[in-house]
Order: sequence, then structure tokens, then C-alpha cells
Amino acid sequence: MLKCFGKSVLEGIAAGKIHIFRKKGADAEKKEINNPDAEIGRFDEARVRADRQLAALYEKTEKEIGKEEAMIFEVHRMMLADEDYQDTVRRMILREKVNAEYAVLEAGKAYAQEFASMEDDYMKARGADVLDVSRRVAGILSGTGSQESSFDEPVILLAEDLSPSETMQLDKSKIAAFVLRGGSANSHTAILARAMNVPALVQTQTELKDEYEGRNGAVDGFKGMFILEPDEETEKELQDKINAAVLEGERLRQLKGLENVTSDGRKINICANIGSAEDVESVLSSDAEGIGLFRSEFIYLGREDYPSEEEQFEIYRNVLSNMKGKPVIIRTLDIGADKQAGYFKLGEEENPALGYRAIRICLTRTEIFKTQLRAILRAAAYGNAGIMFPMIASLWEIRKAKEITEEVKKELAAEGRAFGQAPLGIMIETPAAAIISDRLAEEVAFFSIGTNDLTQYTLAVDRQNQTLEKFYDAHHEAVLRLIGMTVENAHKAGIWAGICGELAADTSLTKTFVDMGVDELSVSPSMVLKVRKAVREI
Ligand code: PEP
Ligand code: MG
Repeated sequence: MLKCFGKSVLEGIAAGKIHIFRKKGADAEKKEINNPDAEIGRFDEARVRADRQLAALYEKTEKEIGKEEAMIFEVHRMMLADEDYQDTVRRMILREKVNAEYAVLEAGKAYAQEFASMEDDYMKARGADVLDVSRRVAGILSGTGSQESSFDEPVILLAEDLSPSETMQLDKSKIAAFVLRGGSANSHTAILARAMNVPALVQTQTELKDEYEGRNGAVDGFKGMFILEPDEETEKELQDKINAAVLEGERLRQLKGLENVTSDGRKINICANIGSAEDVESVLSSDAEGIGLFRSEFIYLGREDYPSEEEQFEIYRNVLSNMKGKPVIIRTLDIGADKQAGYFKLGEEENPALGYRAIRICLTRTEIFKTQLRAILRAAAYGNAGIMFPMIASLWEIRKAKEITEEVKKELAAEGRAFGQAPLGIMIETPAAAIISDRLAEEVAFFSIGTNDLTQYTLAVDRQNQTLEKFYDAHHEAVLRLIGMTVENAHKAGIWAGICGELAADTSLTKTFVDMGVDELSVSPSMVLKVRKAVREI
């Protein structure tokens, strides 16, 4: 047995086989081999495994997103099955006596160059695909591939770190827990882990040894502990904690259907945060009053190209109709900083958190913004939608966003398309927005305070930087004062103000928020009843 400690992102216990996630290998060392036939055998085996992964990815994408988007994986499978491509790899292994991973990457590069020199734009673009396929096979050969779908039961995923887009590509039903060597408790990967309701540790002092693969592991999210091959005594200890958690869960479930009301009769709305349509199920079972934050940007991550209007419309409509008239606040695209999608081609930045992100992209690349607004407004006809703009710092930004929304409505009306009305609100997550919240309140129907970014920008502490976590203090007086001030300004203007950052779920502050007059707290579904309990105990 081996115990390692990290920082817990979500309390809970998990056990399962360990799977090591490594980034897809882009390079392979050239090695001389003396048994080319065996090497060709390795290549063929890896090819079959890659094909299985691609077939699974096709199915998953088709189910979750759509057939058109899933087609890319069919194209990859066709490339992999191509006789010429396979012969090139085999010939190289035979003639040059090189290892299979090297041969497959060299073949991939040669084909990519050939595609790149073609006239036809479609064929040109296939260069990246053949490279991608080759990397997948090389990754399997060297054991460094991210074998997304190669595990059949929920695993304890051990990784150096995970980006939000890598997390999105994982099959959520196959993850029992995350154990990351890097990462920070305030990162979007941590937020996703909470939304998935799986125990997760960041900054864990563990090694990523290949020999751990497939062995038994456990995570104690209460203690922030990862255990390799837990012994009997530890297993018993974990089982006791599971029993206690089940009991606590039962106690919390008794609160379902009850009001979020303090003993002196003050009521507060408790809503849930989601990152995908799949999360609605846990929102409904959490008994939340609605969705206070739908992080729509996750729709854009872990894929090769922009989601179409139709695709987005289907997702939003699905969420809205499944929520059956309960409010759903859809935040418009908050891409950039740590949430990167290659096809946006945002470019390298010195300070990504202070850079080209969120509303700044929407107001300058209006075609992306308009596509999303069209999809949301059309879906709004199927439920109770709100639209929220992220990262607002100035009055002109919200005025411009409103103007574009009006334009989109006019266009939809002119086309004779059905659409619904949706109140417009903003995130208060820059100190500037909190300071001018009296002015901003005149422009919108609601505020939702994003304490994750508000803390980052108020204290000038990068929320991603693990060495600065001690300085990232969301309880800092400056942050609390800005929250208080925002709520006060909202009420003066007759609009409501909620909190949707992670701080909303911090029950040590529930009373403070109620005292401030906060109208809504939006938390991950797993925290809804805990916060209800905290409110009712005031
Ligand atoms: C926030 O900043 O508090 C917030 C809710 O948005 P995100 O965490 O997605 O940046
Ligand atoms: Mg934010």
C-alpha cells in the first residue's frame, strides 16, 4: 500500500482500477530493431486498438453532439484502414529496421505533407487528420496515448494535469476519481470534476509510474488522499466513510421539496451550475430551483470546429424543455484563458487571463456571438431562459451586447423564425463591474457574481497558479465588500443579484450572503441540498 496526499476538490470516496492518462505522444525516438516482423505485428495490434477507440469516439460524439460532427472519426478510421498508408509503415519497418512508433509518425508526416500540397482546400485540411491518426497509433505503441475509451469500468484517472478540453473528451461515466499531480482547486478542470460529482485531488504528491496501470486504487476526498493498493484496514476505514456519506446523503435528501428559508423567514433561491446538457439529470435530482449558470463554452471545447447554430439550438432546447419551466441562465461563450479550443486560433498571449477572452471575443468576432445568440433565442421559446454575458468591465460592452442581441432578434423575426424572450444579465467578475454596478444595474435584468474571477482580478492572483493558492483568498475583505456593494446597487435599481462562483457553495459564508441580501446562490448540483441545509439553519 502507498498513500499520497493532495488537495481535495470534491469530498467523497472512490475506488477502482488505476488508469494513467498521458498526453498524446507527438514524437517518438528512432530505435533500431532486429525483428521487423514482430514490429509489424505491434503496429497491426496498435492499429486495431486505435480503430476501436475511434469507433467508440464516433458513437459518443454522435450521441452527445451529432452525426455531422462525429464524421471526423469515421474519416480517421478510413485513413487508418488505407492500404497505402499501412504499406508505407510496414515498408519502413522492414527496410530501415526502425521501431513501429517512429515509422508510423514518419509515415503520418509524409502523408500530411502530401495533403498540404494539394489544391483542394478540403484535402489540404486532411493533413492534420492523418497526423492525428498517426499520433494516436504511436501513442498506443509507446503507452503514452490518451486512451480515452479503452477502459470499460470507472477508473481512478491519474494524470500530470488535464485541460478543460481534455476533461471534456473523457467519458464521464467511466471516471471514478481524478488524481492530478498539477492543477489548482479553482481551475475549470476542478469545476468540471465537481459538476461530474467525482472525487478529485489536485497537486498530489504521486508519481505516474506505468506499473500503476490497472492496479487497485482509492481516493479519499475527505482527507485529500490517494491510495495505491489499499490494505484491508484502509478499505474498512473507507467503507466506514462511504457508509457515513450515504447516511448524510439520506439526511440531505429529506430536505428535498423544502424551501430555502431561514428560521426568521428569509428566502433565497438555490440554483445549480452546469457545463453540459447531461448535467440536467443531476440538477433535477438535486431539487435546485433552476440553473443559475450554464457554462456554454464547454460545448465549444474538445472538438475540431465551431458548433453550428442547429447543434447549439438542440442542446439549449433540450436543457430548457427538460427543466420544465424552471429558469435556465445560459452564459454566452466564455472561451479563452485556460479554456482553449485550437480552432478559435486565439494566438499566444503574455497574460491570457487578462487577454482575449469571453465577451471580448464575442464583441469582436460577432459572427460567432450571433450564431450563439440565435440558437439561445430560438431555444428560449421552449422554456424559461435567461442570457448572461461574462467578463463585463465597461458600460459600452453591455450596451453593445444588447444591441447585437436586438439585431439578432430582428433578423430572426424577418426570417419568420420562432424565438422566445430572455432577460439579459451580466456576470460581475471584474472589480470594474462591481465598482460601477450602480450604472450597470440600469442596463440589465440581473447580476450574477462570479467570485472565481472576481477574486482573481481583485487580488491580482492567477486562479490557475498552484503556487499562489495561499494568496488566492476568496474570503478577503476586498472581495466580500465588492459582493456586498454589488448586491446593494442591484437592489437600489430593482434587480436581483446572485452568486455563481464557487464561493456560493461555501457554507461558512451562507449567513454572510443572506445578511447581505443575496437573492440567489448557484452551486454545483451536488452542493444544492448542503446549502439548503445551511440556509435553514440560520
Ligand atoms: C466565476 O468566475 O466565478 C465564474 C462563475 O465563471 P468561471 O468560473 O467559469 O470563470
Ligand atoms: Mg468567470
